[in-house]
Amino acid sequence: MLVKEEDNREADPEREIWALVSRRVATPDGIRAAAVVVSGEQIVDVVAPDEMAASCRVEDVGDRVVLPGLVDTHVHINEPGRTEWEGFATATRAAAAGGITTLVDMPLNSSPVTTTIEALELKVEAARGKLRVDCGFYGGVIPGSSGAVGALIDAGVLGFKAFLCHSGIDEFPNATELDLRAAMPELARAGLPLLVHAELTGPLEPAMALDGRSYQRYLASRPRAWEHDAIRLMIALCREFGCRVHIVHLSSADALPMIARAREEGLPLTVETCPHYLTFAAEDVPDGDTRFKCAPPIRERENRERLWEGLREGLIDTIGTDRSPAPPELKLMETGDLFRAWGGIASLQLALPAVWTEAHRRGFTIGDLTGWMARRPAELVGLASRKGEIAPGRDADLVVFDPESTFTVDPTILQHRHRATPYEGRVLLGRVETTYLRGRAVYRSNGFSESPRGRSLWNPDVRPGAGGP
Ligand SMILES: [Zn+2]
Repeated sequence: MLVKEEDNREADPEREIWALVSRRVATPDGIRAAAVVVSGEQIVDVVAPDEMAASCRVEDVGDRVVLPGLVDTHVHINEPGRTEWEGFATATRAAAAGGITTLVDMPLNSSPVTTTIEALELKVEAARGKLRVDCGFYGGVIPGSSGAVGALIDAGVLGFKAFLCHSGIDEFPNATELDLRAAMPELARAGLPLLVHAELTGPLEPAMALDGRSYQRYLASRPRAWEHDAIRLMIALCREFGCRVHIVHLSSADALPMIARAREEGLPLTVETCPHYLTFAAEDVPDGDTRFKCAPPIRERENRERLWEGLREGLIDTIGTDRSPAPPELKLMETGDLFRAWGGIASLQLALPAVWTEAHRRGFTIGDLTGWMARRPAELVGLASRKGEIAPGRDADLVVFDPESTFTVDPTILQHRHRATPYEGRVLLGRVETTYLRGRAVYRSNGFSESPRGRSLWNPDVRPGAGGP
């Protein structure tokens, strides 16, 4: 049986009622002047500022935008076992400073990988006392792991992850179609999503890796067809089993028409893309700069623009960071060998301003942003009754955001364990000023609350109220 999280809710005898007031609150009905009334850990009301009880303590942030705390459903925290890569303490600090109040941790690259109940217990234990934001967990599907799926579902994981190509670490081999066929009926019964790294690799031409520093060669080595083949397979399995499938880190916009057809068919298929695919373009990526390496790769400018169209049309549902860090030794910054370096883009703390910078430029609104980065990710992992929107009954996860101010990315401000990031030197739009987690400020302009107060999150259908108020 999984060790249950100790109840670390602060004793709050008065359950003081207070309100965060702004002329621009991002409510589900759009931006408006409002008072977000908070009692204890929850939002109890959203009213016009002049409807506030006079006795209520008010924190008035003027015309700063109040956002729902963001939900990042794609983070590799790597603890236990690879804490020199990242860890719960540093990842959740970076999240808090970036306006993200809920993370969902991938089953790799921790060691052990989260494919058994014992591994999940170790992970929950490792997270204890370190979380600055709330954090849920995924289980993994690898060859031979299907026997553990039921126990992981019962423990309350928020979904499962599988790779269709080599994951980068040997303990998490890619699932074959047979492995997926074994797991998907159980996931379908539980209503949990299967998150899939969708690249079906073909043979790599040996000549391809000759100049390991060439970004164009690296790009050519992971063609769009790999993504398309994988997505085609997942659509067929989604149809056959009625299992929710979430394609993570979509890079090739050429897959959008096939995704559109699957949607028209009514299949439970959802799609994520990442800030880096929406920001960078292959034409601009310098050779030998491994900070830009990820898989699937950052593609051409025209592709990037069509990903934005995919968001506009609602074919792409969520934006997750796919934060997957590694120590500098593994990034091979000196040799710049893109084929051998660890892949993964550092952006957790920067995701909100990075996406806002590009979204604003293309005429998108704050409401679009919160849909991609808060509401829909919360829906994906079954947390929509508590997270992702500013509405009565939700956790008081709130972010005070200045969407008009700009800053230049200086890696020394980053709270991640490792600071190398391709965003270094970029001017980004939007600053996180304060982040509230369940009613309390956990971050204020470069200062953190004293003690971590984040919690493990579980599937509410399996463990109703677990960790909740
Ligand atoms: Zn990932």
